[in-house]
Amino acid sequence: MLEGKEKRNSCFIGIGSNLGDPLSNCLDAIENVASLEQITLTKQSSLYKTEPVGFRDQDWFINGVIEVKTAYSPRTLLETFKVIEYEMGRKEGERWGPRVIDLDILFYGQEIIDEEGLVVPHPELHKRRFILVPLNEIAPYVIHPVFGISVQGLLGRLEDTSEVVPLDLGEYRDRILT
Ligand code: AMP
Repeated sequence: MLEGKEKRNSCFIGIGSNLGDPLSNCLDAIENVASLEQITLTKQSSLYKTEPVGFRDQDWFINGVIEVKTAYSPRTLLETFKVIEYEMGRKEGERWGPRVIDLDILFYGQEIIDEEGLVVPHPELHKRRFILVPLNEIAPYVIHPVFGISVQGLLGRLEDTSEVVPLDLGEYRDRILT
């Protein structure tokens, strides 16, 4: 039966952590997302050590981006990610400060959504080097549906100069999709 596989949408998901063992948290989160029946992991960026933006007095983050194919609606995807974040130990109130894990919907196909609690493309995507650098690695030619500009183009126009340093994965290397 093809049901559910016919309409699989390509979504890009941002992953970040700066509490506990952030590298391990990011890799666990990717595995947790990939293990869901309705989700197929199709691409995975390198992971990067990134300087905090906004609330700067906190540890550096580990960030990366994955592409998944899913039949979940954007809202179901968001609720699913909230469950994963909660199960991985994220507490309420970690929004601007340190967080165990953060899963953001960056793009959901070419859909534009502006609802209570769900904005897609993610409203910070075009402003943040820690999102655009990993996204550009796996999706340079994907067009931002609001601006009509590719990821590569957004990165070229970016004003954010915060540091985004590729990580040497060492012992974790075999946990990255190749
Ligand atoms: P954050 O701290 O970045 O995880 O943001 C938490 C809240 O942002 C969630 O409760 C979501 O309802 C809301 N939100 C709005 N748009 C998005 C999106 N595209 N991806 C993830 N969270 C979103």
